[in-house]
Amino acid sequence: MRRSPRAERFFGLWQAARDLRVAASVLEWDQETMMPPRGAAARGRVLGALAAARHERLLAPDLRAALEEFAAECAPGSEDAAQAARARTEIERASRIPASLAAAEAAAQSAALVSWQAARAARDFQRFAPDLRRLLGIVREKAAAWAGPGGRPYDALLDEFEPGTTEAALLPLFAGLRAELAPLIAQVAASGAPVDESAARGAFPPDAQRRFGAMAAAAIGFDFQAGRLDRAAHPFCSGFGPGDVRLTWRCQEDDFRPAFFGILHEAGHGLYEQGLPSAWEATPLGEAAGLGAHESQSRLWENAVGRSRGFWTWALARWPEFFPAQPAPGLDHLWPALHACRPSLIRVEADEATYNLHVMARFELERRLFDGGLEVEDLPAAWNEQYRQLLGLTPAHDGEGVLQDIHWAMGAFGYFPSYTLGNLMAAQLYEAADRELGGMEASFAAGDFAALLGWLRARIHQQGRRHASAELIRRATGAELGPEALLRGLRTRLHEIYAL
Ligand code: ZN
Repeated sequence: MRRSPRAERFFGLWQAARDLRVAASVLEWDQETMMPPRGAAARGRVLGALAAARHERLLAPDLRAALEEFAAECAPGSEDAAQAARARTEIERASRIPASLAAAEAAAQSAALVSWQAARAARDFQRFAPDLRRLLGIVREKAAAWAGPGGRPYDALLDEFEPGTTEAALLPLFAGLRAELAPLIAQVAASGAPVDESAARGAFPPDAQRRFGAMAAAAIGFDFQAGRLDRAAHPFCSGFGPGDVRLTWRCQEDDFRPAFFGILHEAGHGLYEQGLPSAWEATPLGEAAGLGAHESQSRLWENAVGRSRGFWTWALARWPEFFPAQPAPGLDHLWPALHACRPSLIRVEADEATYNLHVMARFELERRLFDGGLEVEDLPAAWNEQYRQLLGLTPAHDGEGVLQDIHWAMGAFGYFPSYTLGNLMAAQLYEAADRELGGMEASFAAGDFAALLGWLRARIHQQGRRHASAELIRRATGAELGPEALLRGLRTRLHEIYAL
């Protein structure tokens, strides 16, 4: 692509600022996968320095001047105009917080991540509380600065993860979803027929689980020449560009599902990162539309594809190569175990129906942390109360309660709602793709996922950050985002499995 001299100058300066963010991401990935515990203090210092340097570059007068000169030559409505608009939004946001606060946030995140890991292992929230308190204080300050006078700090945080999202828009969406989910889950409980999950249990050596998961990730299209899979305490995906995407996983040796679906989930994120337009790499639009859109890709591959009969027709045929000592279960025996609906304590291992209740619990707590006087010392009790109300369960200890997620230790408040948005988007996208492509499960049964990936590449991945998620979904599916597709799928499966 030929660029004008002004465009050259703007994109060059933008890339220099963005590359510092990529460098920090590599160090963050290393911190979660490889770094020894005593490296934490030095790592925190380095990440703080990188955050401050990036902040400085984003706000440097030469970048702003280059942006304005470039913007002046862009035709209205053009791709370049969208690039300039996106850059302006990011620079404007960064300009609202001092570099010292950006550096303090990065250092506090590093410290909190380390104490969260120790606290989680020891099941002791108090070990985490001081670092969380410091980090929350910084995030509150940042959110207030982003929101500006009269603005809502929690909305500013939501907007960072999923542009355009507000608390006021989420409240009725979540309330409507809960109103439909609660009776469905209650019906399942009242059916008194627990699903036989023995097909998913047995003895699964970790290395075989890794290879089985990686085989499936490669089959759906994840390119291991442009990605890796490593162990970590918490599964996640980091993209440093379409050519370098890192997935992590963890496993349970007596049940293949947590590792397998965890890997498939992260590979779904990875496909999005690998599929971003390479022509836009390191430009303002060369990123995912938002975290809800990101989660829609992981959930689509994990749930709509990975829990389908077609998919398992193919995967069970491959099973003996990986688990020779563990006879492959029959499809009819396994399928219900992939959709068992049962309130549980751990979000990442929750079934599709109850998952969104885990998100609603966190949304409620975050709203109160930012706008309801909830403080860190009251979090464990407030957490347990939310779980009692929404899921009817009480954690036996903080390790399976308030300490289970990494997000707050990363300062990522306002992130959780994007999981439910992603679930809704995933179901709606899958329905639309199935309508257009037809016969998808028959292709899955033959190990062929290319048509679906191609559809997602064109409608989602290759769009980069050109459209906000709401618009992206409207264009891809022809409808506004809503809970109907998700609820339709859940009802169909649960009615079959539990004979409701
Ligand atoms: Zn995810």
